[in-house]
Amino acid sequence: MSTLDEHLIPVFEEVVARNPGETEFHQAVREVLESLGPVVAKHPAYVNGEVLRRLCEPERQIIFRVPWVDDGGRIQLNRGFRVEFNSALGPFKGGLRFHPSVYLGIVKFLGFEQIFKNSLTGLPIGGAKGGSDFDPKGRSDAEVMRFCQSFMTELYRHIGEYTDVPAGDIGVGGREIGYLFGQYKRITNRYESGTLTGKGLGWGGARVRTEATGYGTVFFVKEMLAARGDSFDGKRVVVSGSGNVAIYAIEKVQQRGGRVIACSDSGGYVVDETGIDVELLKLVKNEHRGRMSDYAERRGATARFVSAGSIWEVPCEIALPSATQNELNGTDARRLIANGCGIVAEGANMPTTPEAVDFLRHAEVLFAPGKAVNAGGVATSALEMQQNASRDSWSFGYTEARLEEIMASIHQRCLETADEYGSPGDYVVGANIAGFTQVADAMLALGVI
Ligand code: GLU
Repeated sequence: MSTLDEHLIPVFEEVVARNPGETEFHQAVREVLESLGPVVAKHPAYVNGEVLRRLCEPERQIIFRVPWVDDGGRIQLNRGFRVEFNSALGPFKGGLRFHPSVYLGIVKFLGFEQIFKNSLTGLPIGGAKGGSDFDPKGRSDAEVMRFCQSFMTELYRHIGEYTDVPAGDIGVGGREIGYLFGQYKRITNRYESGTLTGKGLGWGGARVRTEATGYGTVFFVKEMLAARGDSFDGKRVVVSGSGNVAIYAIEKVQQRGGRVIACSDSGGYVVDETGIDVELLKLVKNEHRGRMSDYAERRGATARFVSAGSIWEVPCEIALPSATQNELNGTDARRLIANGCGIVAEGANMPTTPEAVDFLRHAEVLFAPGKAVNAGGVATSALEMQQNASRDSWSFGYTEARLEEIMASIHQRCLETADEYGSPGDYVVGANIAGFTQVADAMLALGVI
């Protein structure tokens, strides 16, 4: 692990002491602080103004009971969260995650990352995250609807177009956003489209929002390649996961001439040397809510399903971890390096462990962090907010072109900032410093907030 600047050690120690047991949150904070040594050396105002200490303390944290009735008439109980982390740049913005692993530490890590990610987009959005330990797996549509209605029955009083704008994340897609928006509309008696993003295209949603995180990931990697005079052409790519991010990353890599040969879910991974059939993957995952083992069965001879082991055993030139936090560890990183992988770019939030990041950076594998790489999702959410505010609806082509421009500008900002602070080509340093300085400057300008 890298060392922290002497001014930043007390900040980190305070975070650990004030947020006991929230290991993912500690990890996310440490990763950012490790990049900020040169910034606090150059701009003492950030330390004197206690900007870092304030930044690590959420503006508001909401925890609530979510009772609901299952199909058997039994009362079920879950816990809901919304951590409104920072609104210096705009209304709180960030997704909701429904997954049994969700607790305050996960929501805080995601909310903290979201501050810098949203800042990097250059659009006026603050950072937040929320969710629940509810597990949608195996639940009927009616159960998911009743859960969402109960969740929104509390959440509605905390959100709004100018206050806090939730969206999806793991376990929250178009179906859940529909149920959440329906309940919000019913309780408030207002059709406030800009209160939630990721809506359906027929009722206020934006074209490309569904595809945006995956497409944006590929647009970012395209820039990484182009900066070295290279392209996706003929490259072997492994994308972990098979959710929304992974599916559209696979689709876009293939459109840009690369070959995605493996993807995964929590049950195992599929290797398909002829290239993953993305239409079949969409059918299995989205329509049938199926598993990768179902995909392999339907795909037949070309696909091989592996239920044990790690997807990072599959040799590739580009790795896009797009499943969940800490899914790529030190052993995986060593394997990727040994197999000649040249680029690792995070489609998910913090999928690479700190040890793995260290190995990759020392081996001179180009590594780009999620807060830059996967910012296309939330950027397109901000475009959805723009369309809602102006009661407009943009074409697919126009929206995709905007997304591609935004990703190119994030890439450029990362490289320019890394250069400026003496770490040329380092995307981690570039993303953390560029994301941080904009928020920090706004916080100083707004007084003691
Ligand atoms: N959950 C996504 C993310 O991690 C999207 C958030 C949003 O669109 O607000 O950035």
